[in-house]
Amino acid sequence: MFRYCTRCVMPNTKPDLAFDKDGVCDACHSAGLKNAIDWKAREEEFKKLVERFNNKDGLKYDCIIPVSGGKDSHYQVYMARQYGLNPLLVHFEPTMRTELGRKNLENIRRFGNVLELKKNPDVYKKMVLEGFRRVGDNEWPNHIGIFTFPIRVAVAYKIPLILWGENSQLEYGGPKAARMKNTLDRRWLEEFGGLLGLRVDDMVGVGGITQQDLIGYKYPTDEELLAAGITGVFLGYYFKWDARPQVELMQQYGFSVKEDGAVEGTYTNYENLDEATVGVHDYLKFVKFGFGRATDHVCLDIRNGRITREEGVALVEKYDGKLPKISITDFLAYSGMSRTEFDSVMDSFTDKAIFMTDERGNLLRDSDGNLIKKYQDYSIETQLTARS
Ligand SMILES: [Zn+2]
Repeated sequence: MFRYCTRCVMPNTKPDLAFDKDGVCDACHSAGLKNAIDWKAREEEFKKLVERFNNKDGLKYDCIIPVSGGKDSHYQVYMARQYGLNPLLVHFEPTMRTELGRKNLENIRRFGNVLELKKNPDVYKKMVLEGFRRVGDNEWPNHIGIFTFPIRVAVAYKIPLILWGENSQLEYGGPKAARMKNTLDRRWLEEFGGLLGLRVDDMVGVGGITQQDLIGYKYPTDEELLAAGITGVFLGYYFKWDARPQVELMQQYGFSVKEDGAVEGTYTNYENLDEATVGVHDYLKFVKFGFGRATDHVCLDIRNGRITREEGVALVEKYDGKLPKISITDFLAYSGMSRTEFDSVMDSFTDKAIFMTDERGNLLRDSDGNLIKKYQDYSIETQLTARS
C-alpha cells in the first residue's frame, strides 16, 4: 500500500526505508537521533583522527577529499583546512559540465591542488547509455567514477585518509547499520552507492569496451587497500550536517549558487549545479519510485524545522516530478539518442502502480506532459488508514 510518512512527505516506495507503527519513517527518526548526539564529543573524535593522519612536517598530503566542486566539497575542504589538514582534492570529470560547475571547480582550487581524471569520453558515453537503458540510470558511470577514482588515487599516492561528506544513509534514511556507520568501504559502495546491481565488469563488451578501458573505474583490491591502510570516513559523522547554513558560509568563500532561480525539478538553487544531465537521473528516480528531488529537499527542510509538513506538501505538488525539459534536451544532445527511444526507455522504468494509466495500460499525462500520481492525498488520516 502506497503511503507517505506522517512527519515528512517521503513515500514508502523509497528503497530500504522503514516506517514505524505511527507511520513515521526511519529518516525522520534518524534526524531526531542527530539532535541527541554529543557533537562536541564527535568533534574531539575528529581531532584525534586529524592527529593520527596529520603529517607533522607538512611536506605530504594528509588526506584526499573527493570533490565535485559543489557545496559539500567546498565545506569538506574548508573543514579539513580549519582542523589543520593538508588535503589533495580529487575530481572525476562529470558527464556534461555546466558553466556554473566550471566556475565552482575553479574556486575550490583556492583551497588546495586538484587532481582531475579526464576520462575517455567515448567509453564513458557508452556506459551512460548502457546504464540508462539497462538499469534506468544515466549517471551510473559517474557514480562509479566519483566513488572509485579517489580511492585509486589514495592507493597510488599512499595517502591513507579519505574524507567524504555526508552519509546519505544518515541524511536521507536507510538501514540502521549503515545510518550510524562512520566509514565508506567497498561494501557501503556496493549496497548504497547507487550501482543498482550492475557491476563494472558487466560493461566489458558493451560497444566494444575492454577491461583496459575500465581501469579507472575499478575499485582497488582488498590487498591494495590493506597495504595502503586506507580509511574512508564521512565528515557528517563528526559534524552535524545541515546544508543551508553550510551553503551560506561557503558563499563567503566564493561558492556560487544558481542566481536565476531554482534548479529544474526542485525549489532550491544550491545543489546539483555542476552537471547538466542530472535532471534526467532525478526524473528516473521519480518514475521508478514516485518521488523526485523536491521531495528530498522538502523532507530535509521539514526535519530541520524550517517548514511545516503542510508547506512541504505544497512545494512537492508545485515542483516534484515535473518533466525536466532542459535536462532532457541536454541529454539527447550529449548522447545522440532519439526522443522516441528516450521516451520508450523512460516508460519502461515507470511504475504503473504509482502513476495513472488509461484502460489499455498507457500512461496518462497532463497538458505539460507530466505523469499523474495516483496517490495525491497526503493527509495524515489517510496514511494511517492505509496502514490497516
Ligand atoms: Zn519521514
